[in-house]
Parts: sequence; C-alpha cells; structure tokens
Amino acid sequence: MPDCTSRVSEAARSAYRRGMNKPSVAVIGAGISGLSCARALSAAGLAVTVFEKSRSLGGRCATRRWEGHIVDHGAQYFTIRAESFRAELERTCGPDLRRLAAPILDANGEIHRPGENRWYHAAGNNRLGRALAEGLTIRMEATVTTPTPLPAGWLVGDETFAAVVSSAPWPQTLALLGRPPDPASFAPCLTAFFAYAGDWAGNSASAYAHAAPAEDLAWSACENHKPGRIQPGTTVFVAQASPAFSTAHLESDPAEWSAPLRARLEARWNLDPALHRATFTHRWRYARVLAPNDPGPLPPGFFVTGDSLTESRVESAWSTGQETARQVLAHLG
Ligand SMILES: Cc1cc2nc3c(=O)[nH]c(=O)nc-3n(C[C@H](O)[C@H](O)[C@H](O)COP(=O)(O)OP(=O)(O)OC[C@H]3O[C@@H](n4cnc5c(N)ncnc54)[C@H](O)[C@@H]3O)c2cc1C
Repeated sequence: MPDCTSRVSEAARSAYRRGMNKPSVAVIGAGISGLSCARALSAAGLAVTVFEKSRSLGGRCATRRWEGHIVDHGAQYFTIRAESFRAELERTCGPDLRRLAAPILDANGEIHRPGENRWYHAAGNNRLGRALAEGLTIRMEATVTTPTPLPAGWLVGDETFAAVVSSAPWPQTLALLGRPPDPASFAPCLTAFFAYAGDWAGNSASAYAHAAPAEDLAWSACENHKPGRIQPGTTVFVAQASPAFSTAHLESDPAEWSAPLRARLEARWNLDPALHRATFTHRWRYARVLAPNDPGPLPPGFFVTGDSLTESRVESAWSTGQETARQVLAHLG
C-alpha cells in the first residue's frame, strides 16, 4: 500500500475545514446511478463528493450538440415503471419530461413492446444528469485511479472518506479494485448520427425507431420525433450497431463501419443517399452489460452500483443507486 501519511493529514485538515463531522462518501461516476446514490446519501445528511472523469454529467445518458442539432447518442429514452422514479423525474425535470408519441417498429414492421411508454428530456437526455446533480458537490474531469484503503475509511485523490461507491461500468470498477479485467461482461456499441436534407426525409414521419437486434443495424431512430431538437430542413437519425458488429469493428476506422451502417439505414428508412449531408461517429466501449455481475466480497466500505449489477436501462441504473445508498447508510450506521 502506498505511503499516504502526508496526503491523509492534508485530507483530514481539508475535511475539518469543510465542517465534515458527518460521515463522508466518495461516489465515482456522475452517471445516473452515481448521481442517484449521491442524492440519496446527501438527502440522508452525509457529506458526498462525486468524482467524474469526463466533462459532462449523465454518463451514458448522453447528448451531443451537433451541427446545430441536439442528439441523444447514448440512452435514447427511458422507461418509468417505478413510482419512486417517476416522482424523482417529476421533481427534478418538471415539464421537460416528455413522452415519445411515435411508435417503435420491430424488424417485421410490428409495434415493438406495445403499451410501453417511453420518455425523454426535452433539452437532451443528459439534462437528466444535470438535474440529478443539482446541489451536489461534483469534481469534474477528476479520474479516480486507485482508491486506497486506510485503517478507517478510504483515500480518494487527496481526500479521505468513510466509504467509496463505484458506479463505473464493471470492467472499470474491476480495475479500481485491482482485480483482473473481465472485458466480456459488457458489449460495445458503435453509434453514428446521419443528417439528411429535408424535413421528415424518407419515411421517417411514420415511426420514431426501428429495432432489429439480430441485424448489424440493431437500432435506428429519427430524432425529429423529439420536437425542438433538430434544425428545420434536416432529418437526423441515430444508428446503433449490434454487439457482434460493434465488437468486430471496435478498433476500425469509423469510415469503415459507418458506411455499411448508413447503407442499411437508407434501405430501412427509404432514404435517398443523395440527400445525405453529414455523419458523426461515436464508439461506446462499454455500452451495455451482458448479464448482471456479482461483485462478490468487497473491501469494507467499498460499494458498487450501476447497471453492471442489473440491466442496461436508465431506470435500473437509478434504482441501483437508491439501493446502494441504503447499503452505505446501513454500513455507516
Ligand atoms: C448507445 C446506448 C444506448 C442506450 N439506450 C438506452 C435506452 O434507450 N434506454 C435506456 O433506459 N437505457 C439505454 N442505455 C443504457 C443506459 O444508458 C445505461 O444503462 C445507464 O445510463 C447506465 O448508468 P450508470 O450510472 O450505471 O453508468 P454510466 O452512465 O456509465 O456512468 C458511469 C460514470 O462513471 C464515470 N467514470 C468511470 N470511471 C471513472 C473513474 N475512474 N473516475 C471517475 N469517473 C469515472 C464515467 O465517465 C461515467 O460518467 C443505452 C446505453 C448506450 C451506451
């Protein structure tokens, strides 16, 4: 274990200066699960600090401003099955919480999961992260590398905490724990945006999305169905490749994999290739968990949360955050 005496004493002093006579918790990751956990702990009176390695809140509930459009390039929408999740969303997002009205069609053109309501944030799904982060102490662009156990608590960066919660995807949480990697626990997802000239190009007006999980183009959605997001005179699609296609092309040049995805998108939505105007590509190395992971015995005071423990859905990630907060509170008495 590294000698961290001087850093500890500085940490103790800074904790004292912050008036931390209440237990403090470090949450690694400002995705939906980490923020859910941090909010619950903060509401219970603990001193919580969230460490986020990127420049944005929300994790895979991600949105990009692109060519004047607002496009969700991670979670496209979220379900609301639990009343507690509904209450939290209504409290934090208010009227910006919108329901997707147009249908999702499966590979045969039938309605996919009939009866299921799907929701999004009017200004971009990453705003859900921003809303949940309201009032929390968050260190942005702060990558946690080696949380270090102390005789009582944990050292994270230069600060001491009574407990640590990792919400990073499972392969990254394993690295934090110094355990061997398990790259097969998560599937990647190659994602692209394609812009076409004209409002409602092809047959985009007829459906919000097509789901065809067994095909290379596993998912394609028209973002024009989220009003106010796309500039007039343009139609924007999000295309997500299947896990098999994404794994096969993960390290390839994006031009190599986006071209066949675009060809499939154009066939699926009856688009004129001559109207294609722009492409954006993104590689999610850890997109979706393949099966719930069992963290096994963890060091005292170290907790795991997030979709790694369950399934890759925004609502499930939020629920794990609530459950982990209960565990942390029980541990801290
Ligand atoms: C392409 C795609 C499409 C999806 N579509 C949907 C959908 O339509 N509906 C739906 O419900 N769900 C969807 N999902 C799944 C959903 O987005 C996730 O299940 C959910 O957002 C996971 O939240 P999380 O908090 O568990 O993890 P994450 O969102 O991954 O949050 C973890 C955070 O930890 C940070 N982090 C990691 N390591 C460190 C470190 N060492 N130090 C500091 N910070 C760190 C990361 O930067 C990240 O912000 C989709 C996911 C993807 C990728």
